[in-house]
Amino acid sequence: MDKRQLRELELLAVTRLYGYAAEGLEGEGEGSGAQAHSPSIVQHPAPTVVSSLDWDSLRAAVASCTACGLCKQRKQAVFGVGAESGPWLFIGEGPGADEDEQGEPFVGQAGKLLDNMMSALGIRRGREAYIANVVKCRPPGNRTPTPEEAAACAPFLDRQIDLIAPKLIVALGKTAAMRLLQTEASLASLRGQVHRYRGLPLVVTYHPAYLLRNLPDKAKAWEDLLFARRTLRAVEQGASA
Ligand code: URA
Repeated sequence: MDKRQLRELELLAVTRLYGYAAEGLEGEGEGSGAQAHSPSIVQHPAPTVVSSLDWDSLRAAVASCTACGLCKQRKQAVFGVGAESGPWLFIGEGPGADEDEQGEPFVGQAGKLLDNMMSALGIRRGREAYIANVVKCRPPGNRTPTPEEAAACAPFLDRQIDLIAPKLIVALGKTAAMRLLQTEASLASLRGQVHRYRGLPLVVTYHPAYLLRNLPDKAKAWEDLLFARRTLRAVEQGASA
C-alpha cells in the first residue's frame, strides 16, 4: 500500500505513529521530505515512534496530536490518570463533555459509578488503578468513536499499557472490547473469560454509562469485577509461585 492509499484510508498517521513509515514508506508515492507531509499528519515529535516514548513525551505527544479529526473540536486531550505502575488498568471508550472540560477520564456520572465499583473492590484510581480511554479526544456529541479514530489513537494506548505493565486490564464496554480484542462479538459473549492483550490478561465488562441506563445489569458488572479480582489474584499467585 502506498502513501496515497494510506492517506485515503486515514491510516497514514497511524503508520507514522507506529514508526512503520520509517521502515519503508518514506519516499513512496508523492515524494518525501518535509514539504510532502500533509498538515493532518501528527506533527509532534516528528516522525513519532510512540512505542519508545517515556511518560512525559507521551503526554506531550497526546496533547498535540492531530492524527484524526477528533482533535478539531477537543478542548483538550484526555490522557489518562492513576497509578502508573498499578496492577489494574481500566479502559473506557473516550472522553465526554466533563472529561473534555477537566482533562481527566471518567469524572462525570459514569466516572462516579466506576469509582464506586472500584471502591467496592478495595481499589482506587491513583492507588491501585490506572484509567485510560481508547480515544483521547472527545467525539462530538459523545458519539461512539469510529474504528479509524480508535486505530489512530491505538499507539498511545498501547504505549500506556506497556509503560504501566498492569497485571490485569478491564475493558469497559463494547468499544474498548472491540478495539483491544479485534472482534465484533457481543459484549455478553465476551464476559466471563480471560482474554489477552499485549500478553496481559484482559476481562470485559459493561461500560458504566450503559449501566446507568440499564440498572439491572449492574449485578452482572459486579460479577465481572469479582471475576476480574479472582483473575488478578491468580496472576499474582502464579507470579510468586
Ligand atoms: N466514558 C468513557 O468511556 N470515558 C470517559 O473518560 C468518560 C466517559
